[in-house]
Amino acid sequence: MGTGENAETWPWATPTASTSPHPDARLGFDPGEVITARRRARTSDYPEWLDHVQGAAACKHPIRLTGQIDVKNPDGSLMHSIDTDTMPDGAIYTPCGNRRASVCPSCAEVYRRDTYHLIAAGLRGDRWGLPPLGQHLAVFLTATAPSFGTVHHRVVKTHAADCRSKDTCTCRPSVCHPFGKPCPHSIETRCTARHKASDPTLGQPLCLDCYDYAGQVVWNHEARELWRRTIQEADRDLQRLGKRLGVTLRRRYVKVYEWQARGVIHYHAVIRLDGYHPDCPTAIVPADQVVTRAMFAEVLETAFRKTSYVSAPHPANGGKGWRIAWGRQGLDLKHINAPGGDENLAKLTGYLAKYVTKSTEVTGQVFRRIDDLTIELHATPDTHLGRLIQACWDLGTADGWHRLRRYAHQFGCGGHITTKSRGFSVTYGFIRHQRTIWRRTQGFPHLWDEQEADLVVYRLGYHATGWITTGDALLANSAADAARRRADAARDYADDDTVTSALPLAA
Ligand SMILES: [Zn+2]
Ligand SMILES: [Zn+2]
Ligand SMILES: [Zn+2]
Ligand SMILES: [Zn+2]
Repeated sequence: MGTGENAETWPWATPTASTSPHPDARLGFDPGEVITARRRARTSDYPEWLDHVQGAAACKHPIRLTGQIDVKNPDGSLMHSIDTDTMPDGAIYTPCGNRRASVCPSCAEVYRRDTYHLIAAGLRGDRWGLPPLGQHLAVFLTATAPSFGTVHHRVVKTHAADCRSKDTCTCRPSVCHPFGKPCPHSIETRCTARHKASDPTLGQPLCLDCYDYAGQVVWNHEARELWRRTIQEADRDLQRLGKRLGVTLRRRYVKVYEWQARGVIHYHAVIRLDGYHPDCPTAIVPADQVVTRAMFAEVLETAFRKTSYVSAPHPANGGKGWRIAWGRQGLDLKHINAPGGDENLAKLTGYLAKYVTKSTEVTGQVFRRIDDLTIELHATPDTHLGRLIQACWDLGTADGWHRLRRYAHQFGCGGHITTKSRGFSVTYGFIRHQRTIWRRTQGFPHLWDEQEADLVVYRLGYHATGWITTGDALLANSAADAARRRADAARDYADDDTVTSALPLAA
């Protein structure tokens, strides 16, 4: 590599002339960042560059794509072709699209908003081609895993009226575990503390040696299958109920998983009851009014209580499988779309949308994918999370159990954070497309011409990840920040109800 570009690409390699702190460093900026930012801002095509990167400006690690964009005539012949070589930096910038706030706050925020709009549309309807859905019966349910050993926990019997979120809850909790004899390892299984919401011991077992690590990682591994069987069971019961009442019923749902501090997932789902139109089976129509909320709730409660099965056998479990079921604490079910219940709707939708931007933060740590080189570092025998990881690693060697190793960084749980039935709402793809239209038409979506858009063919390939210099990142991120603040101010001015305001989707 030449020395000239080196300073541009590797700002930390820039030699510093003096030992006294650089004035920019005193302001909290990294001098390399400032040098490269100044260099960029002095170039003649700087405004053009800023405009060019606008779509990805807030992203932490944008992806740079190179190739050609073809514009065709209506008859399919080529009108002209644009090469990314002719663009600033010779590439197109696109956001990384990561849903995790710990990886890219900006892309996670976009994903959160999309999820919010997707769920809200599935509950209220009357938008994006969906019929009005406010009259459909719907529930919000939380389904929890069983216990795998006693852990420090925080139980609040009644929350204060103004308690807003469980992260910031300061209500008085019960005593953790007031009673308990010493365990076989002579550890006192008693804890008389009233834990604060931020207490790092929450979710930690009282005795690591008594804890059923295999049971927990296998449950995480099997959770998807348990959900599938439970919904199947609910469908059978709905069919029976429908037969009895002489109507056809179907449920459509969206579900999200969330981590508990002990390192196990639980599911939150919004399940909506729909009817069926014989002439148009895919149409979303309300269920017949003979079905009551109580009947719908009973079907779901029974399915979650009844469903259990035995997993595939494993040599480490004496050649047998594990019994997989929901916890005895089981199911928490709230009616939504209920008369007068709409206040909760925005709140619950907001919760669900927030969960999708999270990973295992609540357990105290976020791991990257674990491999043969890093396993020893992470499988620390004296920590709860280390033992979970070790259990995944050990059990994951058996035939048919490889996903345990693959998802050891998530304590055995793989799969998508959100899943939804077809027809619950619009798709993420649809919402993204709406955003593209909004951006390309600069806020005038009625100007969008789908046929015209189809004539533009992108032939792009991956080139690199990230900003070229830390200075570029600084400039782009601050420009995006300023743009968002302007948009937020404009929106607040136009509509005080920021939680439910739907547009613009553009972030
Ligand atoms: Zn990003
Ligand atoms: Zn405790
Ligand atoms: Zn509280
Ligand atoms: Zn013990």
